[in-house]
Amino acid sequence: MTDDTCIFCKIANGEIPSATVYEDNMFRVILDLGPASKGHALILPKNHFPDVCGLDGETAARVLPLGAKIGAAMKKSLGCAGFNLVQNNGEAAGQTVMHFHMHVIPRYEGGPSIV
Ligand code: 5GP
Ligand code: ZN
Repeated sequence: MTDDTCIFCKIANGEIPSATVYEDNMFRVILDLGPASKGHALILPKNHFPDVCGLDGETAARVLPLGAKIGAAMKKSLGCAGFNLVQNNGEAAGQTVMHFHMHVIPRYEGGPSIV
């Protein structure tokens, strides 16, 4: 269930190297190339889903707990005070890569308003 033309499929499945901070059988979590804050990460399913509407049940069930786990780990390792879980669907909503992904954006005390 991958798409040969999709860069996030290639990154998620290790065909293109990335700064990976977590990996399991269904997901790879990478650092964003254009971070909104220090440590900004993206949760990528290894299967291709264009957006949240087409997610299969297992991916849908696992992605939010994984976001919580990555965010909690960021608080310990990066010292952020909180984090945003953000997920865009469709160009009109700001999605630029049409492979479902969830942003995990660390937020620091006194940091700028970015989301
Ligand atoms: P979207 O706007 O689709 O919700 O988010 C896409 C995100 O992917 C952006 O924050 C952008 O900086 C990031 N991005 C785009 N291409 C790459 C890439 O090749 N590698 C990494 N690590 N991040 C990317
Ligand atoms: Zn893809």
